[in-house]
Amino acid sequence: MRDPMVIANWKMYKTLSEAVEFFTHFPAEVGKVSDVETVICPPFISLADLSRLVKNTSLILGAQNMHWEKEGAYTGEISPLMLQELGVKYVIIGHSERRNFFGESDRVVRKKVDAAFKSGLFPILCIGENWDQFNNGETKKILQEQLSLALEQLSPNNKLVVAYEPVWAIGTGTPATGEVASGVAGYIRGLLRDLWGEVAENVRILYGGSVNPDNILEFTGKPDIDGALIGGSSLKEKFLAQMVRAVSK
Ligand code: PEP
Repeated sequence: MRDPMVIANWKMYKTLSEAVEFFTHFPAEVGKVSDVETVICPPFISLADLSRLVKNTSLILGAQNMHWEKEGAYTGEISPLMLQELGVKYVIIGHSERRNFFGESDRVVRKKVDAAFKSGLFPILCIGENWDQFNNGETKKILQEQLSLALEQLSPNNKLVVAYEPVWAIGTGTPATGEVASGVAGYIRGLLRDLWGEVAENVRILYGGSVNPDNILEFTGKPDIDGALIGGSSLKEKFLAQMVRAVSK
């Protein structure tokens, strides 16, 4: 049984006061929805305040990244321990913006997934091909490489969430079609089955890339897609609430 999820990735948007303002109305807007895990991933500096505001709501906090060590001389980094103390449950790992702008390799992604499991956090592992790879028919090859390197020698763990995020669809207003996303999600589940056996049935697989209130059901209505990872459209309370309600049965 896989509970559906909606994940809001706020990227580098919203100051602390804007994040707090969002929380003055949003919990009430989605208050009656109990069958969709709704995860808000704000910038790090808002996590402490929001950890107080999510108490007594159905909302869950996630982080957009983390380091793999518990502590150390790593200027500018945030550790799993620091996230745990704030009640953060999920952590996005290997987002294409981290891979492309900050040089995060598959090796680093693997260390972070491992660290998330070891500290009891749920990693949201992002994988996806770029436009040229998509056009050259290399999607499956790229996803197979990214997934197998990220999970190399890790024990099966149903805390894993995988987000299929075609790089060409992120922030472009041009999503994949439901058919393509669903085919890819099925392919990813097959890869997970080969790696992890039955545990694959419990791993949630999400689609991300230009999801909005008008198209979300094109993706989340498909058998192997268990929810959506949403950037731009998650910044507006009204849109995010509409999407959470749409995914709710
Ligand atoms: C993302 O940030 O992972 C994302 C999918 O962004 P957007 O919804 O804006 O395409």
